Amino acid sequence: MGFNIAIDGPAGAGKSTIAKRLAKALSFVYVDTGAMYRAMALYFLRAGISPEDEGAISLACEEIDITIAYEAGEQCVYLNGENVNRFIREEKVGRMASGTSIYPNVRAKLTSLQQKLAKSADVIMDGRDIGTCVLPNAQVKIFLTAGVAARARRRYEELAGKGEAVELAQIEADIKERDERDMNRKIAPLRQAEDAVLVDSSDLDIEEVTARILDIYHKAVAAGQQ
Ligand code: C5P
Repeated sequence: MGFNIAIDGPAGAGKSTIAKRLAKALSFVYVDTGAMYRAMALYFLRAGISPEDEGAISLACEEIDITIAYEAGEQCVYLNGENVNRFIREEKVGRMASGTSIYPNVRAKLTSLQQKLAKSADVIMDGRDIGTCVLPNAQVKIFLTAGVAARARRRYEELAGKGEAVELAQIEADIKERDERDMNRKIAPLRQAEDAVLVDSSDLDIEEVTARILDIYHKAVAAGQQ
């Protein structure tokens, strides 16, 4: 097994930005598991499947092949052989991912792929259930969170910066709905693992959060060598 760093937390807490920085600093592979749920959601959207239709979603899971490749250091998600990175960041895809990630067939498919990736390299993996379900033996676990207002503002700036027509109030409502669903689903709900360190990024900038987690990592490595 490689060295595993798990970062979980709600939407917009800064997980992917921070995880990418840490991966670069430590020469780890960054695994963005949300992108995998988004790729599956894209398939369901394109196929016109309703997020409520568990039967159709379970059947569709058998037709879906998700693979990951790293091109110029960037994670590329392939959906049945097509690189779908540029399609999966829209809000409607995120909403569909949240609505369909509640189903056991969807989760089982992606959990095993994620565990395989973590065996083959030193990874920093972010998501909702990494420290609790996917990598329960990860050497470092972080629960990265922030208040709803801060998270909505960040997501708004990110999407507006890409030219998407978005409203702050709508983003905040979506984030609350997504938190509610991710925290209350039956399988692999979003929650802090008992052995995870809580980092609240509401009043910290990217450098401060990165430095804090690097410090946690170095302490874990030093403790492991004793
Ligand atoms: O993190 P991101 O917003 O890209 O994730 C999209 C959705 O995928 C989340 O709202 C969540 O419902 C689901 N997800 C999950 N487990 C993960 C990663 C993402 O259920 N490990």
